Amino acid sequence: MIRTAEVAVFAGLRGPARTFTYSVPDGVDARPGHLVRAGFGSRAVHGVVVGLGAPADRDVKLKPLDGLVHPVPLLSERQLALARWISATYRCGMADAVRAMLPPALAARARAGLPTARGERTEAIFAIAAAGHEALRTGVPRLGARQLVTLRALAAGAVSGDDLAQAGGTLEAAKSLASRGLATRGSRGVRRIPVEFRLSEDDPARDATATVAQAPAMAAINAAIGTGRGFLLHGVTGSGKTEVYLRATTEALSRGQGAIVLVPEIALTAQVVARFVARFGDRVALLHSALSAGERYDEWRRVLDGTADVVVGSRSALFAPLARVGLIVVDEEQEPTYKQESAPRYHAVDTALELGRLTGAAVVLGSATPRVVTYAAATSGALTLLTLPDRVMDLPLPKTTVVDLRLELKANNRSTLSGVLRAALKKTVAKGEQAILYLNRRGFATVVLCRDCGYVVPCAACEIPFALHADGRLVCHRCGQQVPRAPAVCPQCGSRRIRHLGVGTQRVEEDVRAAVPEARIARLDRDAVKAKGAHAAMYERMRSGEAQVIIGTQMVAKGFDLPGVSLVGIVNADTQLNLPDFTAAERTFELLTQVLGRSGRGTVGGQGVLQTYLPEHYAIRAAAAHDYATFAEQELMARKRFGYPPFGRLVLLQTAAAKEVTVERRATELAAALRAEARDDAEVLGPAPAFAAKRAGSYRAQLVLRGDHPTAVLDRVDVGAEWTVDVDPMTLLG
Ligand code: ADP
Ligand code: ZN
Ligand code: ZN
Repeated sequence: MIRTAEVAVFAGLRGPARTFTYSVPDGVDARPGHLVRAGFGSRAVHGVVVGLGAPADRDVKLKPLDGLVHPVPLLSERQLALARWISATYRCGMADAVRAMLPPALAARARAGLPTARGERTEAIFAIAAAGHEALRTGVPRLGARQLVTLRALAAGAVSGDDLAQAGGTLEAAKSLASRGLATRGSRGVRRIPVEFRLSEDDPARDATATVAQAPAMAAINAAIGTGRGFLLHGVTGSGKTEVYLRATTEALSRGQGAIVLVPEIALTAQVVARFVARFGDRVALLHSALSAGERYDEWRRVLDGTADVVVGSRSALFAPLARVGLIVVDEEQEPTYKQESAPRYHAVDTALELGRLTGAAVVLGSATPRVVTYAAATSGALTLLTLPDRVMDLPLPKTTVVDLRLELKANNRSTLSGVLRAALKKTVAKGEQAILYLNRRGFATVVLCRDCGYVVPCAACEIPFALHADGRLVCHRCGQQVPRAPAVCPQCGSRRIRHLGVGTQRVEEDVRAAVPEARIARLDRDAVKAKGAHAAMYERMRSGEAQVIIGTQMVAKGFDLPGVSLVGIVNADTQLNLPDFTAAERTFELLTQVLGRSGRGTVGGQGVLQTYLPEHYAIRAAAAHDYATFAEQELMARKRFGYPPFGRLVLLQTAAAKEVTVERRATELAAALRAEARDDAEVLGPAPAFAAKRAGSYRAQLVLRGDHPTAVLDRVDVGAEWTVDVDPMTLLG
């Protein structure tokens, strides 16, 4: 008999790739979690042992494993269990799920097929030798000035190039001292330290008494460590959520367990990261995609070695090799970045809850504006709802005025600023306070909107807005109906400005200059944001008071915690509401809440002005009133009507091909096959062109399964490798 192993191979297989059975040669101690080398067809590939198989007869033809790439298993049984759950839930291959759990330096090497998997970086270090002490005492042999300084530095305890440089010596001099026998040379591993560790932040709340709302939340979370229970921590910005995370982490550590803290985007959540670093110092490991592969590897190693037990990072930090997990936090749980957009298409929130079940960790989902699916889970008891209703500093939320843009047009105001907003801006600048003007870019180029009356061209059958495609077609993304081009005049008001693609930050800047000539303006547009550090530079200009008015898109909604801002003007609130997507209202509410929350964070008080063509829409009204509960109630009613989550699950199927006919035929065939097998598990929507119907030269189409058990349909129909399968998508506009 021979031993066998199940291996998830990294062979670039598409679709729900299986694992493969290999024989384990004598002398190879393969265990689950080992990174191995193996033959695959005519190639040599890498893979991870996901389990050991039953012994097989010697005459069964199995390929043998070639050997271990790394002597210790890189993935624990618990990580493999999580990979199996991801593979089953999101219908991807084990290889995809497993690769997401390896640090990128190792995964990349595994793909490239390098024989070793070392990621450490080393530096030269030096120590003075006996002959060196002798030379310092006797002056023999004679040394040049640089060498003498360097030798003295070594005598005083300098070790590395950095130490030497500080004492006026050099690495070069140390090397020649070593070659003359006056010093000895060695090397040591260096940790590449992410820049976030250089952020300093004092930590005034460390010893503060918990607020009345925080105390029971903390008690509930502490009591759940070890139970695997999940919580929704619902509280407005400034209500003390981060402090709850910090103290729950302290509690987990005191019980000898670690914590994983997910944040949506490190660059925009630098303050949260800085507070973890301030409180837990070197016990923090940072894992996010903006780190270099080397930094990331080093941080990963520190977790594996047990020197770091507070992991802070983006969604893949869930896969850190933390030995004991007592707490998992997902901050801003509503953020779309928690869903991975390539295989494995997992959602970090659901995966965190599963990891909680596997490890017993308490799982805390935090948000001011949770997704309604999360809120529904918390009100139904699947999660425990913890609420922090007020800001810690007792600052009132800004009072918001809703301006109906249709009335502005009737009053013949064609500026991007309404009368109310213009007056508020003037007053704010005159008082020496600051303002943020926000434009919602998303959705602008994608619907046909009359700039004069707000009319949006809908599909006659579905009454949802048509999507405007780059080639000028209007397409309904629910039923697939198409119109060759948008009308030239508005059917409602006769205006010709119906195909206007909207205003940009530049246009708003001109209007602000005209209204308040003395204002110092900063503009944060798309291009500026791409430049590295632009966000931080703009923030600094506002913080220092150099700029008084900042005009920007989504970027100004995040991280701009400026006490001088007393006015937030939302130039156009509703462009995103017109997107034909089941999350459009939710995303609009979330963004508006976030942007309005930028006002009045200091002592000067704050106000908001919200300009819209849809002043009666529940998402607009609830955002202006800071009323999450009413929003959620209305939104859940709308979701229920159409069977959208949480009242049904979705699977998005997409395909692409160079020829439009190929895509259409493929989509029609699959739609028919799915309909034939759908039974009561799901309904089949489409086919329709994908929202970006043409991308990178190929045509794309999509189908949607919506129902109680959409993945059950996929058990009966093989969709084939031409299709991507996205279970629980965040949007149907991919
Ligand atoms: P959130 O994460 O909900 O935005 P934070 O935890 O950042 O809220 O709290 C807002 C502010 O209040 C921070 O400056 C924080 O240091 C402070 N803070 C939080 N909890 C307390 C407390 N119990 N006592 C005093 N200050 C606190
Ligand atoms: Zn339609
Ligand atoms: Zn019109």
